[in-house]
Amino acid sequence: MTERQSRTIKLSNADGDTTTGTLNFTVYSKQQRMARGLTALGICWGLAAVTLFIPIAHFVLVPGFLIAGPVAGFMRYRLAETLEEVTGECPTCHEQVTIPVEANDRFPKWTYCSARNDPVQLSEA
Ligand SMILES: [Zn+2]
Repeated sequence: MTERQSRTIKLSNADGDTTTGTLNFTVYSKQQRMARGLTALGICWGLAAVTLFIPIAHFVLVPGFLIAGPVAGFMRYRLAETLEEVTGECPTCHEQVTIPVEANDRFPKWTYCSARNDPVQLSEA
């Protein structure tokens, strides 16, 4: 089952000021990862079947979706956890901020404070 978890993360700026925040993420079980992978595969192959009936474009779209299916499926299967957001105090403006992160981001990562666009580095605490 889907499990939302959080862990402590470090927010720092170029001047060396550091605060701590919370990283929220979702963890998937092996069964869910398989289901997510198969869903991506099914969508791609479904699109391949639909685009079969589009003249000329089907020469590109059908093989494209047939190849994209297993690739997208494997990428979804491999993703054991998806990152969601970081909440914490900005080390520069000291406001409470929520910074969205990409599902497969890796840390350390430079991003911007959502309150005043200050550069902020997120890194594992
Ligand atoms: Zn800020």
